[in-house]
Amino acid sequence: MMIVASENHVGNVIYECMRCGTPVTNEELSKLPEIKCICGFRVFRKARQPIVKQVKAI
Ligand SMILES: [Zn+2]
Repeated sequence: MMIVASENHVGNVIYECMRCGTPVTNEELSKLPEIKCICGFRVFRKARQPIVKQVKAI
């Protein structure tokens, strides 16, 4: 028996725009010249990150 676990970027933080709720990762935010949502709003809150984890037992 073998267990294969894969996980999305460990430590990746997801934020949500306080106005439109568009999710954006801290990685995407770091690439932007300024922290700003596509809707133009600048206030984000930390979103609860969905844990992407798959465990397969073979
Ligand atoms: Zn927005």
